[in-house]
Amino acid sequence: MSVLITGGAGYIGSTLIKRLVEAGYHVISIDNLFRGSYEHLKTYERSGGARLLIGDIRDFEVLERTVKSTENIDIIFHLAAIPGVDMCRRMPERAILTNVYGSYNVLEVARKHDIDRVVFTSSAAVYGDPIELPVRETHPTMPKNLYGITKLAAEDMFMSYYELYGLCTVVLRLANVYGLGLFTYWKNVVPKFVRQALEGEPLTVYWTGKQTRDFIHVEDVVSALELVMRADKKAISGEVFNVATERPVAINEVAGIVRELVEKTHGISVSIKHVPLPEGRSETLIPGFCLSIEKIRNKLGFNPSWTLEAGISQLISYYCNLRSV
Ligand code: UDP
Repeated sequence: MSVLITGGAGYIGSTLIKRLVEAGYHVISIDNLFRGSYEHLKTYERSGGARLLIGDIRDFEVLERTVKSTENIDIIFHLAAIPGVDMCRRMPERAILTNVYGSYNVLEVARKHDIDRVVFTSSAAVYGDPIELPVRETHPTMPKNLYGITKLAAEDMFMSYYELYGLCTVVLRLANVYGLGLFTYWKNVVPKFVRQALEGEPLTVYWTGKQTRDFIHVEDVVSALELVMRADKKAISGEVFNVATERPVAINEVAGIVRELVEKTHGISVSIKHVPLPEGRSETLIPGFCLSIEKIRNKLGFNPSWTLEAGISQLISYYCNLRSV
């Protein structure tokens, strides 16, 4: 069985490739390398476990050529996107073409070539500012920015391909993904605080720091994707699942954990500085914000295994090793 991943050079995609190749699957990735990199995946390519292609999902021909040239693609994980609120704000046209039109191309290729199941990684951004907590999949979708809007448009297409053509489509709404996969993005808040602490800089908590997020480790996200891959089609076709921890964490708490762990392991004192929100960023205080994982727990047996403390400790060790190379 072969697995096609769009966006395999990204943070989640590369971690998924590692997991699947190690489990014996043959993986093909399409990525335009706009943001990600295949650097960390070379060993999997050399071993023959993964084929790493450079191509853009905005180009239907590229997708179709890939599917035609590979035998037995049973599943597509569609991860390629212009990620995040900030990037979508800075390049709206590209965000729409990639996240919406690109998703349509993925669905079309899956429909034309009878792919068994297609999994889309969406985002908690589709909920906007929720009115009920923990946020369930049935909560109204009210995205507040272009990122959320493009993700929701793609979700709707995924659902309509299930309704219209019976294609097995699945949507996963991810909370804030952090932690060490094959690599990490140091600009996201958890790794950023770890880097700041170990560099002797103050941790820059934006705004009041009381804003909360639901932080899910990238390895747990990959576990959720694997569960969807192995699930009975009846349990997942046309379904939407949150992937999160159901634990609300204030940014002040993240800073506190990083400070405590770095002080304990390195004996350096860490300071915390409250700074105004950077231009273009907006926040709403939603105390207790987190996503319900009751559905994915009950239907697929999902159970996140990483605590935030363990994920932060892992990042601390990783950053120290990087510095000592
Ligand atoms: N944040 C912060 N200091 C930073 C970077 C981020 O306090 O230096 C906060 C930010 O205001 C937000 C949370 O951390 O409440 C998560 O930010 P990130 O950019 O990692 O993810 P997103 O905003 O997309 O959820």
